[in-house]
Amino acid sequence: MRQFSLVVLMACGLGSGLAGCAPEPLTQADLAQMAHPSAQIRAQVEALMPAAMAELDPMEARILSEGRPLNAVETGYALKAGVHHPERVRVLAWQGRFPAPKNKALARVYKPANALAITFGYGIAARQEDPYLIAHELVHVAQYERLGGREAFTREYLTQELVLGGYATPLEREAFKRGHRIAPVPAGATRRWIESLD
Ligand SMILES: [Zn+2]
Repeated sequence: MRQFSLVVLMACGLGSGLAGCAPEPLTQADLAQMAHPSAQIRAQVEALMPAAMAELDPMEARILSEGRPLNAVETGYALKAGVHHPERVRVLAWQGRFPAPKNKALARVYKPANALAITFGYGIAARQEDPYLIAHELVHVAQYERLGGREAFTREYLTQELVLGGYATPLEREAFKRGHRIAPVPAGATRRWIESLD
């Protein structure tokens, strides 16, 4: 049975919900539906986009204004993650849980309450600044760049979340696997989960 593994839209951190839940491999049908989403999925994504961007834009602006630049070690992580502009990245120490979006439809897809960090474009908000967590988020920054910016990333993220029902999406799988290679996750359930990803 598929489960919500972690929260996430603009990029979850290592949430608490994945411990003990072995990841299922993605099926050919899943991959085909993500590559060529149905008209219904496309319509759902477009309906969510304004609310998603209304969450992302002010968060990124705040993090870019109040956050700190990457240090030398983190800049190395960013380059390994494939980030083209590590100098643009900012990290903001976040106190408490991330708030649910005000938009109810978006709140059904994007559940950030248990996330330890979330990436909004070049802005990383992090409740903890563990190296493996920052490395994971930097993979998301690289994804934003690779996909062509915030709207393109958000559209892809929402599509994957809707097709897979919140289950570990390809964008998250990539962030877990690459992030773990850059700065290993400590031994435990989360690490075992990551190492069992296909
Ligand atoms: Zn993530």
